[in-house]
Amino acid sequence: MKQKHILILGAGIAGLAAAERLKTVMNVTLLEAQNRIGGRIRTFRARSFPLDLGAQVIHGAYGNPLTKLVKKLGIETVPSDYFDYALYDKAGKCVSAAKTAAQEKKFRSILKAISKHSRRIAKNTSLEDAMNLSPLKKEIDPALWNWFKESEEIYSGGDLKKQSARHYDQSNDYPGPNMIFPHGYDQILNAFNLEGISMQFNCAVRRISWAKSGVCAETDRGMFDADYALITLPLGVLKDGQIRFSPQLPGWKLAAIKRLDMGVLNLIHMRFSKVFWPQNHNFIGVAGQDNPFTRFADRSRIQNIPVLTGITGGDDAVKLESLSDEAIAGLAVKALRVGLGHQVPQPVEVEVTRWARDPYTRGSYSFIPKGASWADYNTLARPVAGRLFFAGEATHARHPCTVHGAYLSGLREARRFKASRGKELL
Ligand SMILES: Cc1cc2nc3c(=O)[nH]c(=O)nc-3n(C[C@H](O)[C@H](O)[C@H](O)COP(=O)(O)OP(=O)(O)OC[C@H]3O[C@@H](n4cnc5c(N)ncnc54)[C@H](O)[C@@H]3O)c2cc1C
Repeated sequence: MKQKHILILGAGIAGLAAAERLKTVMNVTLLEAQNRIGGRIRTFRARSFPLDLGAQVIHGAYGNPLTKLVKKLGIETVPSDYFDYALYDKAGKCVSAAKTAAQEKKFRSILKAISKHSRRIAKNTSLEDAMNLSPLKKEIDPALWNWFKESEEIYSGGDLKKQSARHYDQSNDYPGPNMIFPHGYDQILNAFNLEGISMQFNCAVRRISWAKSGVCAETDRGMFDADYALITLPLGVLKDGQIRFSPQLPGWKLAAIKRLDMGVLNLIHMRFSKVFWPQNHNFIGVAGQDNPFTRFADRSRIQNIPVLTGITGGDDAVKLESLSDEAIAGLAVKALRVGLGHQVPQPVEVEVTRWARDPYTRGSYSFIPKGASWADYNTLARPVAGRLFFAGEATHARHPCTVHGAYLSGLREARRFKASRGKELL
């Protein structure tokens, strides 16, 4: 029997995982718009030290399939705790650890209660509106309340006023410590043996035609015909309509694409001539100021380099993208000076991300806005007419937004084909 042929769109971790598994049973062609693999796993290596511009963390080491890859490859990872921070107020005073811990506990218990009673919350209630109803809110210092909210937006990428309260849940992480990569997340891409796969780089797909007889992808580098297409493109790319489907995707699929949303997390890595900040926590926070940067990751503790990484999420992160690198650095330094004092110097060099503007992602990762639900992730994963298949972080209802979710979604689709043992998947 002639071997079937599959086109895999996108060489992020979902596409790579599927391609590696499928190459033993099918002809695989990987169509990738950029000149590299990894997608949102992207490590900047033009300097003497690596800087992750996309994914940073393995969310929960225990039972996480990425832990297995890391162990197999012997990659060094170190724990990083999102809740290990020194928080400064707008007068530059370090808020006591006892106070932040007590206040954060109250904030987290509001989120837990929302999660627990989610079924009783109306579909169109935003997370922010639900949180504002909690009587516990008045027990939290307003500056800290805002800082916790901003930290939450950094984590989810979506503004709390847009996120669904009903479907807010933090269940997409594995248990155990979060792990980060001192030498770059992209090392994990070495886990995939791509020999035997036809890799087509700089090959943006513009149109996908599908019929009973097969599929055809129209790309910047010509047409590719096959039996099936596995689409692992980011939700943001599907949402902005840059890829045309002929015939159009069914209404149920389009509706789910429209309902879910893409959040934004942006980073500014700032290298200073030397470390000038106290190196006793993973993060430095600055509360009570009107600045898109409220949290900084201390890279010096992990990589032994004088780098602080400013982090911003949600609508603030999107707005920032129209500014120059210098202007963005100006804001980050201003925030640091509020917390750490006027002696904070200008950085020697900066590296800035603009994920919303990136035509091949249009955002950082998915979130569930008001009116959408977890079920939409399953709808995104549902095949169309036995010809079009879907993987990627926004197709994994249990672990969306994450590298491990994307990886598992690629394996899921490979299993679907392998289970069919060459029979048509109609
Ligand atoms: C700033 C940031 C921080 C993050 N932090 C974390 C974290 O700490 N931990 C975590 O688990 N996750 C994190 N994530 C999310 C994580 O990176 C993603 O969920 C995961 O990498 C997605 O993998 P994927 O294969 O689904 O998609 P992608 O990696 O986006 O792969 C899709 C591929 O499709 C290609 N493509 C796009 N359009 C076309 C086209 N028209 N034709 C052909 N190819 C196309 C893209 O170039 C890309 O290579 C972060 C993401 C960002 C942006």
